[in-house]
Amino acid sequence: MAQIIDGKAIASKIRNELTETVKELSKKGITPGLAVVLVGEDPASKVYVSMKEKACAAAGIFSDEHKLPAETSEADLLALIDKLNNDPKIHGILVQLPLPKHINSEKVLEAISPKKDVDGFHPYNVGRLVVGKPTFQACTPYGIMVMLKEIGVDLTGKEVVIVGRSNIVGKPVALMCLQQNATVTICHSKTKNLAEKVKSADIVIAAVGVPEMVKGDWIKDGAVVIDVGVNRVGEKKLVGDVEYEKAAQHASAITPVPGGVGPMTITMLLYNTVESAKKCCCI
Ligand code: NDP
Repeated sequence: MAQIIDGKAIASKIRNELTETVKELSKKGITPGLAVVLVGEDPASKVYVSMKEKACAAAGIFSDEHKLPAETSEADLLALIDKLNNDPKIHGILVQLPLPKHINSEKVLEAISPKKDVDGFHPYNVGRLVVGKPTFQACTPYGIMVMLKEIGVDLTGKEVVIVGRSNIVGKPVALMCLQQNATVTICHSKTKNLAEKVKSADIVIAAVGVPEMVKGDWIKDGAVVIDVGVNRVGEKKLVGDVEYEKAAQHASAITPVPGGVGPMTITMLLYNTVESAKKCCCI
């Protein structure tokens, strides 16, 4: 039976370490600060923002919240980002996506200073990852890499198959795996023979957003399965992108949903914010 990769436990360990680092920084007069900007009333975004605020508070990170009405103009949002870029108390800026339709998300993300881009979405930071010299790395893929390391997976020479090619998960995690000497295949909705591709993988990373579309019998015996998907089925049930029960019969290790990748995402956001603050006093 597969090892269940406990994302909550790994995240909790890292958060405890971060709390200690924050204490060290405070002795030097520095409190890491994360600005979180939410525009509008999207219910899921509100939940994510409140989780981020709570996580900051628990780690001793200053959380600077900006909850703006849905009708906020692009110009006003850009002006706020400019102010935050120049605020020495702020080491990280996060603009919660999706933004209302009248605002150009790309323009907004590019307005964030790359030095405070703790989400790792700015083209400068994406480019650094492409050339193998990463600075801020996108939180979900970074969390996946930390999890793989924690369970002792050495990616060198391994076949990694990623299902999904989004800018926030699929593409960056592919680059991170490549950086660690894996042979990487990125699959998407136009990929032919998906099952065959997945069957060849030593490590499967599913980031699709379709409930249980990666079937359990596609998983090679002994493969490691990382399920990024979070899909609500019915009123309360959450399922991943992988058919968990059946996949677990083949995998050597697998992330559950919930409690796998999810807790790592916010943790890496805190991590990036603390790293940014550390640069202020070179510890
Ligand atoms: P996107 O919708 O941006 O991307 C989905 C990708 O899956 C696309 O590349 C798409 O292909 C591909 N895809 C869709 N259908 C199929 C199919 N039938 N066969 C093969 N590929 C397919 O999603 P995200 O990357 O943003 O998120 C993916 C999942 O991860 C979601 O469930 C999301 O909720 C979850 N998530 C979880 C996070 C966490 O912290 N736990 C963080 C971020 C996301 P194409 O490009 O061709 O359209």
